[in-house]
Amino acid sequence: MLFVPWKYIANWECVTCGKCCRAYSVVLNFQEWLKIVRNYGVDKTIAGIDKIFIKRKSDGSCIFLGNISNLHFCGLQHMKPKACKLWPFKIFSKPKYGYANEAVYYYGKRRFFVYADSNCTGLTLGRPSWEFTYQTVREFVEIALGLCNKQRKTTSNVALIEYPNVLENLKIRKYYFRL
Ligand code: SF4
Ligand code: SF4
Repeated sequence: MLFVPWKYIANWECVTCGKCCRAYSVVLNFQEWLKIVRNYGVDKTIAGIDKIFIKRKSDGSCIFLGNISNLHFCGLQHMKPKACKLWPFKIFSKPKYGYANEAVYYYGKRRFFVYADSNCTGLTLGRPSWEFTYQTVREFVEIALGLCNKQRKTTSNVALIEYPNVLENLKIRKYYFRL
């Protein structure tokens, strides 16, 4: 696994490939676990030695991962765990993966070190764009700090213009696929 400091990234945009929801187990905190259990039942979660996870299907993917015509979406959108909201970014108070100058990010007077998991398909390497720097990374930091709950720049916005009937059939009221 390779972690890239944010200053080497030009932009990030989720392309709903679903790779992350197939490759990783999602760790839940107690409140997240409780919400899932109340809404979907305890069998949608699984206990490890000292952590609780979302259950995975036999193919290894998250039990809440949906797929229509190879566009993947999160069936847990309204109570998406923080670990999923932050993916593929990691935010630390110390330069955990090195490259301190390239990973440092200032949020007001506070200093953080931000990296992205290179396995994500949505990363474009290069010089960070204004939007990525001041909107996307900022929102990831705010989510990490618990200052922001609603995702704008940190989730996919793939319009379902071509799939209005699918939406109707699934009784999904949103007009976007979101991961
Ligand atoms: S976050 Fe990255 S890996 Fe996950 S679905 Fe989006 S583009 Fe794919
Ligand atoms: S984003 Fe949704 S579908 Fe993907 S791992 Fe998290 S809860 Fe599961």
